[in-house]
Order: sequence, then structure tokens, then C-alpha cells
Amino acid sequence: MIITIDGPIATGKSTIAKTLAEEIGFIYFDTGAMFRSLTYAILKENVDYKDAETIKNFLEKFDFDIIIDHGEKHYYINKEDVTKKLRTQKVTTLVSEISALGPVREKLMEIQREFAIGVNAVFEGRDMGSTVFPDAEYKIFLTGRPEVRARRRFEEMMEKYPEESQNLTFEKMLEEINRRDTFDSTRKISPLRQAEDAFVIDTSDITIEEVVFKILEYKDTTSTVRE
Ligand code: C5P
Repeated sequence: MIITIDGPIATGKSTIAKTLAEEIGFIYFDTGAMFRSLTYAILKENVDYKDAETIKNFLEKFDFDIIIDHGEKHYYINKEDVTKKLRTQKVTTLVSEISALGPVREKLMEIQREFAIGVNAVFEGRDMGSTVFPDAEYKIFLTGRPEVRARRRFEEMMEKYPEESQNLTFEKMLEEINRRDTFDSTRKISPLRQAEDAFVIDTSDITIEEVVFKILEYKDTTSTVRE
């Protein structure tokens, strides 16, 4: 069974997907981390991603893996553990542009669908319910007021990456969030979009536990109706 969770930045998607998956014994995939891994590799190898032939060649030899160590997911590109590099400012600034490229989306969709074969999983991202898994059993779309989301992300960055966040302000964060959300929602291929049959939850004023509770409630009531 596949459950999808989509939505814009800092709606709590990752924590919610992880908590939900733990609660129901599913595995969990953070597809943003996959786009970030690929972006990191492009930056590191200095790939001319605007050139169609170059990106095609790069994607052909792109070797991606996820390994779980002591319960934590580690992302590997060409055998290098890139997990700690994924949230750096350089990657964050470029990731939306890379994610808008058709061949990149195709490649990652292929990998995501492969990961989904024969497992019970929660997939979290932007287009999981609308494009990658249109037949998913349950689809959730999370929303939230931009100011609340910017505050959350700002505080998270200050706590986890204090050095890198020295020049960061709330206003800059709000601007960055709006820029990336607009880019993700207006790109031509597979934009950030609510699937028609998704259950929508505004996470601005409720806790992670409350969101997970709502999802479980929705799952139980929908499955009763379906039986
Ligand atoms: O979720 P996160 O902020 O880590 O995602 C980083 C970026 O990856 C997003 O801003 C978006 O551009 C891209 N992304 C995507 N499709 C997904 C997941 C992430 O385009 N399914």
C-alpha cells in the first residue's frame, strides 16, 4: 500500500511522514532528499545541467542508493554518503531549478516507483499523489500560512546549522520560501499540485501529533467506506 504526502515547504511533511510511517509500520521516503542528492552531485561534479546531452549522460551513470544505519537513512551518490550535505545553502538554492528539468524528473520517478514495488510505504514530496503514484490508496496534501512555515524553517536552520545561518533573517527565509514554492508550483513538468482526490490539512495551527491523528482518522474512515 502506498500513502502519499505532498505540499509546499515547511508544512511539516518530513516529520509527519516519518511519524505516520513509524506508527503504522510502513517505510518512509523523503523524495526531496533524492532531488537534493542529485543537485549536490551536479554541483560537486560541476555538471553543465543546462546542456541536454550533458545532463542525459550524467543521469545515465547516476548511481543512487539509500542505506539505513542504526535506524537513520543515509543517501549515497556514487558510493559517497552525502546525507550531511543535503541541507546546505548551495544545494537549497539550486534544487528547484534542477527539479524542474524533465530528464531529472523522469529518472527520479523511475527510481521512486522501483522503491515502491512490493512494499508498504509513505512517499513524501511535491508530486507523489498527482504524478508519481496516481493510484495511491491514500493521498494527503499539507498546506500552511507562509509566515508560519518561514518561522518554522528559520528556527530549524538556526538550531541545526548555526554557522551557515549567521546572515539569515526571518524576512530572508520568507522570501526564499516564496521563491522556491512559486518555482515548484509554476514549473511545466509535474508542478507542486494538490491531487484532486487528496485529503487536505492546514498545519499552521496544529501540532505534528494532531496532523498524524487526522491522517489516521481519514485512513480508517476511508477504508470503512471502501470496504
Ligand atoms: O522537500 P524539500 O524541501 O527537501 O525538497 C527540495 C526541493 O526538491 C523542492 O523545493 C522541489 O523543488 C524538489 N522536489 C520536487 N519533487 C518532489 C520532492 C522535492 O520537485 N517530489
